[in-house]
Amino acid sequence: MDLKATTHICVSPVKAEDEDTQVVPSQPMYLIVVHGGTTGTMLRIDGPETSLGRGGDNTHQFHEATVSRRHAVLSHRDEGLSWLTDLGSSNGSFVDSRRIPPRTPVRIEDGARIQLGAAVVLKYVSLDPCDERFQREMFERTVRDNLTGLYNRAYFLEQIGPLCERNQMRNLGTAILMVDVDHFKRVNDTYGHDIGDAALREVAKSLRDSTRSDDLVARYGGEEFIIALPVASTEQALERAEQIRLMLARRTVRAGRRELRITASVGLSCSLLDRPRTVNALIATADIALYEAKRSGRDRVVDAGRLLLDAERRTESCDAVAV
Ligand code: GH3
Ligand code: MG
Ligand code: MG
Repeated sequence: MDLKATTHICVSPVKAEDEDTQVVPSQPMYLIVVHGGTTGTMLRIDGPETSLGRGGDNTHQFHEATVSRRHAVLSHRDEGLSWLTDLGSSNGSFVDSRRIPPRTPVRIEDGARIQLGAAVVLKYVSLDPCDERFQREMFERTVRDNLTGLYNRAYFLEQIGPLCERNQMRNLGTAILMVDVDHFKRVNDTYGHDIGDAALREVAKSLRDSTRSDDLVARYGGEEFIIALPVASTEQALERAEQIRLMLARRTVRAGRRELRITASVGLSCSLLDRPRTVNALIATADIALYEAKRSGRDRVVDAGRLLLDAERRTESCDAVAV
């Protein structure tokens, strides 16, 4: 989205001290992700220096292979003047498609298009409160599910890799919970689609209430939800999964004069520091565990790690008999 109709970009290297360009009034500045991340993400520029790169110690982190660990620095002064300095990155920094020289501050103006490496494109803009609200609302519409207000599947899948990395940097693992409402078709068939919708909103509310700010909760599709939790151990993951399941089972949903009870089955899979797993493997194994939770009676949590261990034990005992 082009937020500013007029864009003037000066890409000639200019030292901050030599600057005599007209001073513009100070307004909150943002970097808005155009490409190479979740489009529309707004990164607020606070303070005089904002570091950009792949490493976790940057002010804003970009999980893209062609972005260097410490890629560039954006210097911002109160008068509204800004400079971008490439820190000698491998794949370069660009302003309005032109590569800027390394380690040389380059003046950038409101509306500039900044590219880091091959794929991350950002728009540097000042936003007044009205623009800011509009931009935020547009962003929310792309990442949220209409019915429940939870994040949507696409946003979850974009965020889960970076989230696992962030957890790892905090010396934590990540647990994935696949949550599927039990016998939900019956709710629709018995009470109608509107009550079914209300029930899904209630499930979402329950998941929101039983999770924390550093968890990621999304509607994965239909009556299926997905949650990522930072965890230190499988025991901790199981405990949290049980709490989430129980909170839902204790809730009621109003259906006319009646009150419904909704339960869900949960498939759990953990990537721990000593046993890391890829995101794809985490999701696939959580799905297998969910299938087992359904098969073994519903309204329960099944841990994929436990399933694997049981299968190994069975194989070993068969081998022992064969010997
Ligand atoms: P199980 O315990 O095995 O998961 O049984 P289930 O009935 O929950 O699973 P099934 O896959 O048979 O049915 C899922 C139902 O969820 C069917 C579909 O119409 C309903 N559903 C999916 N999305 C929505 C929605 O947005 N609103 C409503 N009201 N129903 C939905
Ligand atoms: Mg279901
Ligand atoms: Mg389902």
